[in-house]
Amino acid sequence: MLCIASAHLGYRTHVYCPDADSPASQVAADSTVAAYEDGAALKAFAEAVDIATFEFENIPADTVETIQRIVGVCPSAKTLVMTQDRLLEKQLCTTLGIPTAPFAPISSAEDLAAAVESAGLPGILKTRQMGYDGKGQSTVRSLSELESAWMALGAGDCILEGLVDFEVEVSVIFARSRTGALDTFDVPENHHRDGILRESRVPARIAGAALETARDFAQRLAAALDYVGVGAVEMFVTEGGSVLVNEIAPRVHNSGHWTIEACATDQFEQHIRAICDLPFGGTARAFDVVMTNLIGDEVDAWLSHLDGPFSKLHLYGKTTVRPGRKMGHVTTLTPIGSSPDPE
Ligand code: AMP
Repeated sequence: MLCIASAHLGYRTHVYCPDADSPASQVAADSTVAAYEDGAALKAFAEAVDIATFEFENIPADTVETIQRIVGVCPSAKTLVMTQDRLLEKQLCTTLGIPTAPFAPISSAEDLAAAVESAGLPGILKTRQMGYDGKGQSTVRSLSELESAWMALGAGDCILEGLVDFEVEVSVIFARSRTGALDTFDVPENHHRDGILRESRVPARIAGAALETARDFAQRLAAALDYVGVGAVEMFVTEGGSVLVNEIAPRVHNSGHWTIEACATDQFEQHIRAICDLPFGGTARAFDVVMTNLIGDEVDAWLSHLDGPFSKLHLYGKTTVRPGRKMGHVTTLTPIGSSPDPE
């Protein structure tokens, strides 16, 4: 989707990915299929492009640093390092006075009891790095469950988070320019199943004050990270309207895919504009939306999603279906002003 947005602006893209026939390489002008650790391939790639970016935060930071020694990367390797690590992210929030779930680091068996003491139970044990879509996570209700979950996750660097009793999850998708200008899209509410984003809806059904707080948190985090490009901050909103930051995604975000059809400028084009130092486009929204991910074999019913006049199907060109794998999404649009009045 970033390649397509770049092409609209007349840019040619070059995709670096370890997998042959990656979805992005299917729509890019050039591609390199090589390991993230292949120094010669990384050097050749960096010398062939004018600017680099990434759309997956689990790329080794060393890979991005190698490229950054030759050509600019946005967001920077430093931003990637901060946002790859759940502990560093949460500590940044704490420094800025931004609330999160109670948390405690765990790196050895001696830390387990103290973590329960400070984060509380029930909680969610998460690996500090390399987790996404609910991977590397386990809900725990007792110290002994925590012990076995920590062993099952490899007994490495983890974080225990107290379970937040939230009413709704939202994400703020922001764009930040090289000069620090910040813009945000309308805030979606997000529904997960098994830790995987299932559906995003806009407008979010939360109070205006909580939306303002959410935007303010995203703006302050983006500024603190000296962020360039589009990113997302995932948050919990409680029944009382408190907002807590869950995590920062240093990339265009699944909960912003609806911007393709609903907004004057979508998140992908805005990202390309930000990293290429072009002015931002307007983000005004013309439709209310429900974006539904097609996960695993749900993609088999793809044809049925072409039925409605306002149903927009996106298939990613992934060749193998696996349980939990995001294969595409459908955005259902309702022109603003045409929805029935809510009761
Ligand atoms: P994450 O990978 O941190 O985004 O977690 C995936 C999903 O698990 C989130 O979107 C929430 O639905 C849920 N979750 C994660 N952390 C917590 C928490 N501390 N309290 C309650 N739910 C959580």
